[in-house]
Amino acid sequence: MNKVQQKAEAIFSSSNMLQRRPALKAHNESNIPGVYVIGDLAGAPVIKLAMAQGFDVIQHIAAKPDAKADQPNEYDVMIVGAGASGLNAALAAKEKGLRAVVLEKSKFANTIEDFPEGKWVYAEPDAAPPKGKLWLDGARKEDLLARWHQIVTENGLDVRTQEGIKSLERLKDRSFRVVSEKGEYHARRVVLATGQRGNPRHLGVPGEEQEWVYHRLYSPRHYKDEDVVVVGAGNSAVEAALTLSEQNRVRLCNRGDEFPLIFKGNAEKLKRAVADKKIDVMLKSQVREFGDKRAVIESDGNKQQVTVPCDHAFVLIGAELPVKFLKSLGLKLENEWTGSLARAAALTLITLAGLWILGGHAQAAGSNLGFLPRWLGALAAVAFLGALIVLGQRGDRYSWLGVSFLAFYTVYGVKVGSGNEFWPYRDWGYKAFSFFNRPWSFWYTVLYTLTMTVFGIQALKRWGLDRRDKFQIWRYVSLLSFQWIFFFLIPEFLFQWAIKYQWVGARLASDPQFAGQAWRSYGIIYAWPLFFYTFFGDPHKIWVIWGLLLSFVIIPIFVLWHGKRYCSWICGCGGLAETFGDRWRHLAPKGPTSVKWEWMNLVVLAAAAVVTVMVILRDGLGFLRHPSVWGLETYHLFADVWLVGILPVTLYPFLGGKIWCRYWCPLAKLMHLISKLYTKTGVSRYRIVSNDKCITCMECSRNCLVGIDVMSFALKQEPITNANSSCIGCGVCVSVCPMDVLSFGTLNVPGLVQIGNVAAHA
Ligand SMILES: Cc1cc2nc3c(=O)[nH]c(=O)nc-3n(C[C@H](O)[C@H](O)[C@H](O)COP(=O)(O)OP(=O)(O)OC[C@H]3O[C@@H](n4cnc5c(N)ncnc54)[C@H](O)[C@@H]3O)c2cc1C
Ligand code: SF4
Ligand code: SF4
Repeated sequence: MNKVQQKAEAIFSSSNMLQRRPALKAHNESNIPGVYVIGDLAGAPVIKLAMAQGFDVIQHIAAKPDAKADQPNEYDVMIVGAGASGLNAALAAKEKGLRAVVLEKSKFANTIEDFPEGKWVYAEPDAAPPKGKLWLDGARKEDLLARWHQIVTENGLDVRTQEGIKSLERLKDRSFRVVSEKGEYHARRVVLATGQRGNPRHLGVPGEEQEWVYHRLYSPRHYKDEDVVVVGAGNSAVEAALTLSEQNRVRLCNRGDEFPLIFKGNAEKLKRAVADKKIDVMLKSQVREFGDKRAVIESDGNKQQVTVPCDHAFVLIGAELPVKFLKSLGLKLENEWTGSLARAAALTLITLAGLWILGGHAQAAGSNLGFLPRWLGALAAVAFLGALIVLGQRGDRYSWLGVSFLAFYTVYGVKVGSGNEFWPYRDWGYKAFSFFNRPWSFWYTVLYTLTMTVFGIQALKRWGLDRRDKFQIWRYVSLLSFQWIFFFLIPEFLFQWAIKYQWVGARLASDPQFAGQAWRSYGIIYAWPLFFYTFFGDPHKIWVIWGLLLSFVIIPIFVLWHGKRYCSWICGCGGLAETFGDRWRHLAPKGPTSVKWEWMNLVVLAAAAVVTVMVILRDGLGFLRHPSVWGLETYHLFADVWLVGILPVTLYPFLGGKIWCRYWCPLAKLMHLISKLYTKTGVSRYRIVSNDKCITCMECSRNCLVGIDVMSFALKQEPITNANSSCIGCGVCVSVCPMDVLSFGTLNVPGLVQIGNVAAHA
């Protein structure tokens, strides 16, 4: 089981490879009540947004009835980190009359202080004015810092530099004891504003601690006529190598075989510098040791170790979350897979066994278990479900997986139909769930629509109203309208009324082939092969003609202009993912392996096509009769129940909402193939383009529900199309980018495609 758990964990944790953050609740409160996390550490990618979090968190704290400390030696707020967010929080605290102290482990605004000399600091995003009293406008770093020093002095803030915190303890009275490098403090609440960019990643090789091995490049022009080794493959490393190469002999050491994450401009400059022999680029190579003014580099390409002269080395391989530090304070990180898969699986099975007894199967079987009363089954189910929930609350993530599985296995396993329910609901589940004389399928649709509505309104607020983003407002209005009108009101009510009151004409209304198949009205919007039964099961010819038109004419025309936007604007399956699944969108599987798995929906599409053809031809070709029945049943069981229902919805809280759409939906694949063909033949009007302002904050990649590494496209300014990605056109990457880097192509349909501009001017 250990190996199975390891494999499961690798899948569930794939989103962590991009970026990790502390697990936060509303108002940026961490798992420790009274400890808040703001700024870069909480995902605010630029100074303005970090400042806004500092301001907002203090408004929240100040509004609490116990905002003020009880004891005279206790601070109301302890702020850790004197960066943009921490300083703005301290200014807001002062304004609210809260007694605050700021502890800074290094220099005042250390991250910005460490920017290269003369760096221009951008004040993006343009649309939002800065919140709070800290000044921000586009400026040279030196000017910005001078203004900040002045503001801090004028406001008399208590900022203590060179004093990092060492430990944090929550006391019985819910206040905190904070031990720093210089002393001990008591505070009512703690705000962590420690950033993460100031925590450079290390290689971990011998000699890295020597004073000529740096993890930042501050003043490149101070180095002249020296042997320099730069390690890294990102923009910082390439820019450093380019600047240093003007006056030095530079080797750029990259452990990969290309530079996939650098700006287009940097790539061109690097190419020129290599051609001019100004930089020696060592690909597939790794530093093994820094010795006495030399570096030992292993080149994987030819398995050789070379020793090169090295007066200075710059290891510029990014920054990382200070996991050890955060853990030592007791903070939980998002998507931590702790617990036991085997225990959760056993508890889930026993809960289901309890339900089996509750359903009366122990007695009906006439077996040795006949003595087990139904109430005992109910008791066992409640007890073991309770155990899963308690373990989950204690941090066992596999237990929550078990709870989620139980919930959606029940919902879909019962919906299969009376008498066909999955174990342990066989012969009793459907009846038990058919409340008020309406079948479970009806209540399922009600539940689905209500869930989408409740979570859809939250998502509408998050992406549309709060950001004043018209594109997202229209998208969520569209998703909710399609669900309510076409996937609820028409099939459940309006179709029947159309028959009863003959809105469809007397002939159709009295035709049992049409009138008796209300469920086919789902096919008004759901196209084959998502609506698998379009062309068989005795359809009225109206449905066949509409099905052909929808699947093979309307959808392909729509795809020409809008790619796969059907998935993020129209479809009910995609709709549930974009609403109920929205809060977990950052957990979507990431990385090249996760993209490779997308072959699966080609298999489902092929299976749908083969079974459909077999079923249509079976009357004429007798030998197809048995295989077609088997194919139909198998496809129904796997695709219609497990792949579209139980598995993806169970996985929403763990892998985001788009597992079905990305990996298994045959219609998504069909649209993808069409869109890819359009792109390759140059007729597609769908793409996302980027300008050159990306600051590598990763917000776009983090929030892409289909796991696309949007940032790497943005850096290279390479358009995102359906030839190079499975983009569904939700536009969240565009909305979330703080630098307005991304926008939909240059197509001239106002309000729908120019959303980069719409969002910027909203
Ligand atoms: C190269 C580069 C260029 C950038 N350019 C821009 C730009 O042009 N415009 C823009 O808006 N953004 C830019 N950014 C992003 C910007 O720097 C961050 O968004 C911003 O600094 C985040 O502010 P913060 O307060 O959350 O964290 P930080 O500014 O990182 O501040 C955190 C502070 O906490 C301190 N600290 C850490 N650990 C402890 C501890 N244990 N105890 C006490 N103190 C601690 C650190 O020393 C630091 O001073 C850039 C970032 C980089 C790396
Ligand atoms: S790339 Fe952007 S528009 Fe496309 S699916 Fe991802 S977040 Fe949505
Ligand atoms: S394109 Fe992506 S990584 Fe670049 S600034 Fe925008 S959101 Fe951040």
